[in-house]
Amino acid sequence: MPQPPTLKIVEIFASVQGEGLRQGEPTIFIRLAGCDLRCSFCDTKYAWTGGKTSTTSRVLAKVRALRKRFPADWACLTGGEPFLQDIGLLVDGLKKEGLKVQVETNGRNFRQLAADWLSVSPKPGRFDYHPGFRRRAKEVKLVVSKTLTFETVRRLRQEFPGSVPILLQAESNKAWSLAKGRRLLDRALKQGLKNIRLSVQLHKILGLP
Ligand code: SF4
Repeated sequence: MPQPPTLKIVEIFASVQGEGLRQGEPTIFIRLAGCDLRCSFCDTKYAWTGGKTSTTSRVLAKVRALRKRFPADWACLTGGEPFLQDIGLLVDGLKKEGLKVQVETNGRNFRQLAADWLSVSPKPGRFDYHPGFRRRAKEVKLVVSKTLTFETVRRLRQEFPGSVPILLQAESNKAWSLAKGRRLLDRALKQGLKNIRLSVQLHKILGLP
């Protein structure tokens, strides 16, 4: 019988990835409870606290059941902030089930994981992150909030490898944020910054969870 560590889980559900480069791919989401930040624009405030205590094997059983009717190839650990919990066994277990594993993180707490895809999303005020993510990130997602500046975009572009795209993701697809993202991209292009892209939250457009 698999033993603890137990995890605090908010929800497990099947949907389509709405953010980042994996946008549009069928995915089983596992939302972990707890976050070390309190972003004003957070659209998962219900995951800041609480969650139901569950063993890794129980989470895997739920994922297995969901995949019977929704045979997704990917699982995404999201939150909250997944790296605040001991998710190594869960990542390993999901991979043994034949899933590819994405983890979405604000980037402040690093540990080595067998995940296939790390989406790193530094947040205001300082947009800081653990440098261990520089070589592991597959994408950097920046929510185009009121406080995101061009200087931050430029700094992150310089710090992450050029092969890692920086996505300027509109805050809840709002018009002012889409326009600001466009202005940031124009300025980046003029200054010769590469691999910066505009992005939206597809799941909100499609009305998906
Ligand atoms: S880091 Fe993410 S989950 Fe945490 S408060 Fe910010 S947006 Fe919400």
